[in-house]
Amino acid sequence: MKAYDALKVRLLEVDDLNRAAAVLQWDQATYMPPGGAPARGRQTATLSRLAHEQFTAAETGRLLDATAKETESLPFDSDEASLVRVTRRYWDLAVRRPSSLVAEFQAHEAESYQAWTVARPANDFASVRPLLEKTLELSRRTAECYPGYDHIADPLIDFSDYGMKAASVRKLFAELRSRLVPMVRAITSRPVADGSCLLQHAPAAEQLAFGLDVIRCFGYDFERGRQDLTHHPFQTTFSSGDVRITTRVREDDITDALFSTLHESGHALYEQGVDPRFEGTPLAHGTSAGVHESQSRLWENLVGRSRGFWEHFYPRLQESFPAQLKGIALDTFYRAVNRVERSLIRVDADEVTYNLHVMLRFDLELDLLEGKLAVKDLARVWRERVEADLGRPVPDDRNGVLQDVHWFAGRIGGVFQGYTLGNILSAQFYDAALRANPGIPGDICRGEFAPLHGWLKENIYRHGAKFTAPELVKRVTGSDLTIEPYLDYLWGKYQPLYGLREEERQPAGVA
Ligand code: ZN
Repeated sequence: MKAYDALKVRLLEVDDLNRAAAVLQWDQATYMPPGGAPARGRQTATLSRLAHEQFTAAETGRLLDATAKETESLPFDSDEASLVRVTRRYWDLAVRRPSSLVAEFQAHEAESYQAWTVARPANDFASVRPLLEKTLELSRRTAECYPGYDHIADPLIDFSDYGMKAASVRKLFAELRSRLVPMVRAITSRPVADGSCLLQHAPAAEQLAFGLDVIRCFGYDFERGRQDLTHHPFQTTFSSGDVRITTRVREDDITDALFSTLHESGHALYEQGVDPRFEGTPLAHGTSAGVHESQSRLWENLVGRSRGFWEHFYPRLQESFPAQLKGIALDTFYRAVNRVERSLIRVDADEVTYNLHVMLRFDLELDLLEGKLAVKDLARVWRERVEADLGRPVPDDRNGVLQDVHWFAGRIGGVFQGYTLGNILSAQFYDAALRANPGIPGDICRGEFAPLHGWLKENIYRHGAKFTAPELVKRVTGSDLTIEPYLDYLWGKYQPLYGLREEERQPAGVA
């Protein structure tokens, strides 16, 4: 297979350039002094442009044609046929986007990220408004490289969550929303659970040490990863041997850094679990934003906020924070980490209201791209929508439109739907894991995570991007994406916590 081998050499060079850009971005978000920003923007832009030029060159296309012939008799799920098929899909997308646009976007991202790190604490939306206007323009120009779409967001959604469109996401979200809103209403009509046991002073070093202990038990490999501090936690992959996570710590909240660590470790377990034979190819990463997020949410919530998990870890947490947690019963603590409230910040939101935050952002993205909403009105519209959806006044932009890094470090469009797709899929995958291995909840109570981790590796992680999200979901769960397991999970957990009555449950199809 001469062409196949040549293609792999070429893809490895493209991958080297992209991963080198990722190292620079990681550095910018962790250790780089502010003075490095202008040059850093240029450097990542140069690497991204070179990677894009190399990948979209006519020679890559020629090799793809030749390898298609070489691999045509191989099975669909063979590594070789999969590599050619997936690379062809990415190539078809990439060749339609000029390298100059890729580089311009990359340079703009670095500038706008840096400005956001200053603007958010200063509560200064005005200073980033022109940058956000430019982001919107670049996002539109990116989408317009793919004429023939039904909605201008479609190409952008397709990059992150292949197979989804604005219309299909809207339909899915409308159904989910009609089932979630009554649950939120029922829960918030009960007395608010007491979260005060969490909101105590807790030194950063102890918080971080505890989180690292937990993710070591999950199976995160520190020989192939590390954790550093940042503004907005993320996970990044430089190679199969170097899969990093970041977090931030608030010393007035015992579990804030912990849940962000569990979340990012879920992303990292996925990346560490990809078959190392895919190294240096487009198969060597998670398959979609939604599937990626399903893994972070699975470890953060279905595992990390479960009663069984805390039966095992709460005594250890009490040992780490004796002054704060002595005399606080497990039950009180469990209720505190699962308290539901209408809050302002997406990343701090509980499992039940979280998706309302995502839907708000998704709708605003569509309105911005359609030209229905101007950036100059965004902060105001954000506040109005939060009041309407969550019944909370937004005191300032720091807790409003400036809270998420995404629009300041990437495009507008196709960015947020993956979070809710991830929540839905986390329950659907976990259901499949329990069907295959009903002992998993018992293992979790004993602090044994290898059975769950092993199942996820075997069924999801090792495949990397070999299968599209719809293909993977079907293979793993036997059905297409469905919201029922997620709604069953939420009801099963929150019904007893809040004493909900069966008649308060919204049945399917009654909006
Ligand atoms: Zn995530």
